[in-house]
Amino acid sequence: MNKTYPNGVQALKDFSVTIGNGMFGLLGPNGAGKSTLMRTIATLQDADSGSITLGDVDVLKQKNEVRKVLGYLPQDFGLDPRVPAEAMLNHFAILKGISSTTERKKLVESLLVQTNLWDQRKQKLGGFSGGMRQRFGIAQALLGNPKLLIVDEPTAGLDPSERVRFHNLLSDISQDVIILLSTHIVDDVSDLCTNMAIINQGEVQYCGEPLSAIASMQGKVWKKIIAKDELDAYSERYLVLSSKLFVFKLALRVYSENDPADGFELAEAHLEDVYFHHIGAQSLIK
Ligand code: ADP
Repeated sequence: MNKTYPNGVQALKDFSVTIGNGMFGLLGPNGAGKSTLMRTIATLQDADSGSITLGDVDVLKQKNEVRKVLGYLPQDFGLDPRVPAEAMLNHFAILKGISSTTERKKLVESLLVQTNLWDQRKQKLGGFSGGMRQRFGIAQALLGNPKLLIVDEPTAGLDPSERVRFHNLLSDISQDVIILLSTHIVDDVSDLCTNMAIINQGEVQYCGEPLSAIASMQGKVWKKIIAKDELDAYSERYLVLSSKLFVFKLALRVYSENDPADGFELAEAHLEDVYFHHIGAQSLIK
């Protein structure tokens, strides 16, 4: 699939992934093309060329078929801050065409319970925390009983406990629904996803299981603590994956098929190493 915006930015280049059951993570830095792909699958914008298949459905052509089975939680969604959660969800259910009052009441109740918002159902959305808003977003995305749920950067801005709670919710839902999750946070993928694609500058760099990606890096990641001003010299000699501040020094991780000696120690490979190996070395000094 290809997509170039009118301003000349090529957001997707020969992009191709197959999305199976369970939770699929789309991992990439900001500007990688994740939202472009999500919006295209959600039938909100067209690709210039290429194809997307979801089961038997040709996503780019059979848009109405896709919309019937799709739930979508975009990156920014506007909610009227004056309306209580329950009333708003009921309103969305009416818009979804659920006309029976009894059926609607039952559905709204069960979604509020499922997303852990039952106790806050009378609270106005304006007073919701980031995590509550995102869980409310999931409740509205689940209204039509979708087969595919697309969630675009849902954990950005959540604090650690809200993230864990949100992860648990997604993990429960993924028992029944295919979830496509985009994120720039590596841990979102390692905690949740059975399959993933790493994308950078509109191109797929890796597509497969996070666990096999990690396995293929074992024995090739080496670590060493160095002084901050040594980084440039090490970067010239080694394929640096990452460098993190560590008590006034740097915790350096490099990729090497063989033992680099030179004071390096073998490290256990993590998904973050896989990620940086594919998108290029990053300095993690904040
Ligand atoms: P991500 O979701 O991974 O951050 P996006 O899909 O939002 O990436 O963006 C990919 C690239 O396309 C970026 O360079 C971005 O600036 C550009 N882009 C995204 N949307 C538009 C648009 N509507 N018009 C022009 N350029 C866009």
